[in-house]
Amino acid sequence: MKKTVAVLPGDGIGTEVMEGTIKVLNAVADRFGHTFEFQKGVIGGAAIDETGEPLPKETLDVCKESDAVLLGAVGGPKWDDLPRNLRPEKGLLKIRKELELFANLRPVKAYDSLLDASPLKEERIKGVDMLIVRELTGGLYFGTPSERREDGDRVVDTLSYTREEIERIVDQGFQAARKRNRKLTSVDKANVLESSRMWREIVNEKAANYPDVDVEHMLVDAAAMKIVQNPANFDVIVTENLFGDILSDEASMITGSLGMLPSASLRKDGFGMYEPVHGSAPDIAGKNLANPLAMILSSSMMLNHSFNMKEESEAIDKAVKEVLEAGYFTSDLVKKGKRGLSTDKMINQVILQLAEDNATAGIMEAYA
Ligand code: NAD
Repeated sequence: MKKTVAVLPGDGIGTEVMEGTIKVLNAVADRFGHTFEFQKGVIGGAAIDETGEPLPKETLDVCKESDAVLLGAVGGPKWDDLPRNLRPEKGLLKIRKELELFANLRPVKAYDSLLDASPLKEERIKGVDMLIVRELTGGLYFGTPSERREDGDRVVDTLSYTREEIERIVDQGFQAARKRNRKLTSVDKANVLESSRMWREIVNEKAANYPDVDVEHMLVDAAAMKIVQNPANFDVIVTENLFGDILSDEASMITGSLGMLPSASLRKDGFGMYEPVHGSAPDIAGKNLANPLAMILSSSMMLNHSFNMKEESEAIDKAVKEVLEAGYFTSDLVKKGKRGLSTDKMINQVILQLAEDNATAGIMEAYA
């Protein structure tokens, strides 16, 4: 199969983890007989430096002409003092809006081999396998007026949602729950916010269409507490943009590091952009220290969701799991008395594991 992938490395560690992920995808292409054509585009700070804007039209065109998009991360102190409309993060918000990527899927999985890398107690996080479904193109991050209004000492941000925007993300949440353990936790702040009251009404209406899914409502403050207290109780969480952003960073600590969390951002027709949950990590950028697994796992989500390459996606997930089980880790996954691998070495381990699994599969076939 031949697929075109738009590749937007962005800034900081985004470029480092993207480079390795392309190598992993090329290894998958070799093993399964596919061709991935990578079309590069600039976004974020790199795009500002090159073109003066965080999301140039050429980049958007490359994305629209591709079968899927891979994105690294944007931002960094170099661009922090620019006006809000010109900052790297604006490029990220704009690409999500322009490509109508309203559904952000963020799986959070506790790997047995990394239980000791989490700051949480092992017995609490063992077996955690949850999915956060975050609304991505509405709410506070996109409120009108899109410019933050400053009136003397007053600032105003607007939280706005339409019924349709809520309905489509709630449907995504129910559908995801149906494919998993049929439990949906809808997170809101209905005791205070009108937008949350409408959210809750819509979840209750939609529940009638999914009688096989158990639904519960949870206030966001309680959810923040329960994710730490009893994370294994969650299956699918569906929530609005800001709450999802915060809760998923919190949940990343179950895996031990932000560097472990992949994500998929999907349009209604299934077109998707795939990116790690983490940012550009300026504190470690350029030092070959970044954990590449979130980006690599995001590429696996791309193979699964956008290209329907289930076996290929599973091959990447399996290689990552086996590399971790073999005791390899990067330095963000703190393990007592041990030093982590560099970004490059971690990527090489994943590629070696893919090759080894392939060889083993060949031997098994020969004996079948
Ligand atoms: P961050 O996610 O970049 O980093 C938070 C902490 O986690 C840092 O200590 C960092 O070193 C560590 N970390 C993150 N990813 C890691 C990885 N793969 N391997 C090892 N350690 C990792 O968040 P931040 O520091 O708040 O933001 C830095 C910049 O990134 C800001 O400009 C911010 O706006 C931007 N940002 C971008 C995105 C995105 O592109 N999707 C998301 C969040 C933040």
